[in-house]
Amino acid sequence: MLDNSDNSIKCLDNGFVRLVDSMGGDDAIVQAARVSYGKGTSKVSQDRGLIRYLMRHRHTTPFEMVEFKFHCKMPIFVARQWVRHRTANINEYSLRYSEARDDFYIPKKEHIQFQSALNKQGRMGEVSDELKKKVQSYFEEISDRSFEIYSELNQAGVARELARAVLPVNLYTEWYWKNDLHNLLHFVGLRSDSHAQYEIRVFSDAMAESIKAVAPFAWEAYQDYAVKGLRFSRIEQGILEQNLPNRVIDDIVGDVDYQITATLHSNKPRKEEDLFPLYQQQGGKDTVEDFNLKWESGEIKTGNVRELREFKGKLTSLK
Ligand SMILES: Cc1cc2nc3c(=O)[nH]c(=O)nc-3n(C[C@H](O)[C@H](O)[C@H](O)COP(=O)(O)OP(=O)(O)OC[C@H]3O[C@@H](n4cnc5c(N)ncnc54)[C@H](O)[C@@H]3O)c2cc1C
Repeated sequence: MLDNSDNSIKCLDNGFVRLVDSMGGDDAIVQAARVSYGKGTSKVSQDRGLIRYLMRHRHTTPFEMVEFKFHCKMPIFVARQWVRHRTANINEYSLRYSEARDDFYIPKKEHIQFQSALNKQGRMGEVSDELKKKVQSYFEEISDRSFEIYSELNQAGVARELARAVLPVNLYTEWYWKNDLHNLLHFVGLRSDSHAQYEIRVFSDAMAESIKAVAPFAWEAYQDYAVKGLRFSRIEQGILEQNLPNRVIDDIVGDVDYQITATLHSNKPRKEEDLFPLYQQQGGKDTVEDFNLKWESGEIKTGNVRELREFKGKLTSLK
């Protein structure tokens, strides 16, 4: 039996995810990126800002410099989904070499639901307690019976590589799974999503905890740009272009100009009389009176200048 020491996160009834080792973190991403952007280049000199820039522009290779090695134990039907992520290095417990253990996944009552009518790959609705008990007892019955048969065949000397074929896919397996941060984020993006099956989602969520600890800026950027960022198709942009009045776009662009000005000011404080000219340089169109009113309202947020300028470019392209 492989060892399952302290830092493991329990998943399902008998599974776990344990970070065995990792190499690098946010610093390794920045270090690799600076090879292409040059050390000390202005504007991308802040680590967090650089990581966010890389993520926004899908400059992905620096994220491959960070490596994670996990020891995981999951039911075989979960492993079948997991193994589709082809970029990982895997070494799995061998049922040709070793005997299977009497270790099966039995779903908890709260995870037993009906087939979803809306989503062919999902579940929904509240199942009666009677049916839940029946589901659990069938899981137990098939697990017990198949293991009895397996043990009998084993004792009779039948090859383990053949005898294992009588075991169902709720049997637990284990593996070492190594991947880089770029591909691990891709995995988590797909498998922690609400469309993924509950039984793999818990493992993905557990691995996400390691990403948050090892590369917090990269995790934050991934959430902001990949998971929660919206991308519009050409058709969707066409609809926006036709239906968003220019005055609405101008209003938003106006706010962006204020935000750029406030950000530049917070990065490098200016004299009061230089603020309005700075705002005008950013494209601001308000009069000095309106500028002063808005500026003194104190409601202007700051952000990342480069990102705000990119946003302004996207907005004006809709006009
Ligand atoms: C909700 C959900 C439902 C799914 N349903 C089904 C289903 O019904 N049937 C089914 O068969 N699968 C299904 N899958 C699996 C899915 O189709 C992918 O195989 C799986 O998510 C792995 O994604 P990937 O290929 O992007 O990841 P990885 O294999 O980790 O690859 C990462 C990236 O590397 C690149 N890459 C890797 N290998 C190659 C290659 N050989 N050629 C080109 N580029 C490559 C691609 O850019 C890829 O996105 C489902 C997945 C999810 C999340």
